[in-house]
Amino acid sequence: MNRCRIKGFQGTSLIDYPGRIASIIFTGGCNLRCRYCYNGSLIDSSELPDIDTADVLSQLKLRRGFIEGVVITGGEPTVQPGIIDIMRAIRRIGLDIKLDTNGTNPDVIEWVIEENLAEYIAMDYKAPLARYESVTGVAGVEDRIFASAQLLMKRALRYEFRTTVHPLTHSLEDIETIAFEISGARAYFLQQYHSFGSLDQALTETPAFENDFFIAAAERITGSFNTFSVRNLPAPMPSEFDYTTAYTQSPDQTPVSINLNR
Ligand code: SF4
Repeated sequence: MNRCRIKGFQGTSLIDYPGRIASIIFTGGCNLRCRYCYNGSLIDSSELPDIDTADVLSQLKLRRGFIEGVVITGGEPTVQPGIIDIMRAIRRIGLDIKLDTNGTNPDVIEWVIEENLAEYIAMDYKAPLARYESVTGVAGVEDRIFASAQLLMKRALRYEFRTTVHPLTHSLEDIETIAFEISGARAYFLQQYHSFGSLDQALTETPAFENDFFIAAAERITGSFNTFSVRNLPAPMPSEFDYTTAYTQSPDQTPVSINLNR
């Protein structure tokens, strides 16, 4: 088995895999340096000890029957030489997999889809392609992001795109451009920035978006996706805001699921 640097393991999560009770595997290392990243210890994880892959697989076997799936997240899992091997091993145990990825390795994603290794793929779509470097700190990944997004939209069964937003990294126009670039995708989520530390300290010191940003974004992009939602809303929506009525259908009558509750 090729090496997969596992840096963390969580036995049970009820919220990280839609529709499944799952364990979580955290891999070390990442090829991006997103300004809002709060996983600094994982992206440069040389200080963290590796967790033995065999031990993790044993834990998963013991939990089979209670958990239904495994979330593989990072860092960035697709930079691991052993990512395919460990996914195969988990599938042999009989567990579904949700793969979290930043989309920079379309070859790995194609392999995962080809072998039907991930039941669910969640891909960060971090910015309009033209602004990727300014948000991720790394140049030249746009073509690979585009290729991965196309793979998901054309060939993956269950997938989502998601964008973490902050006033210093995103504007409403950016969200509109993203919606255009991945228009027709099955599911898209905007994610409120977590304010407990980030690679770029300026983000931590600058207030995150309020609800009005997410309402305005929804008004601009609803209709581009079968499912659109916001995660980690800063506050409950005002009771007079009848979101259900306003956005239950896209212009082409495709049902649209909107959930702006916390
Ligand atoms: S937020 Fe960006 S830098 Fe941090 S782990 Fe994810 S892809 Fe890597």
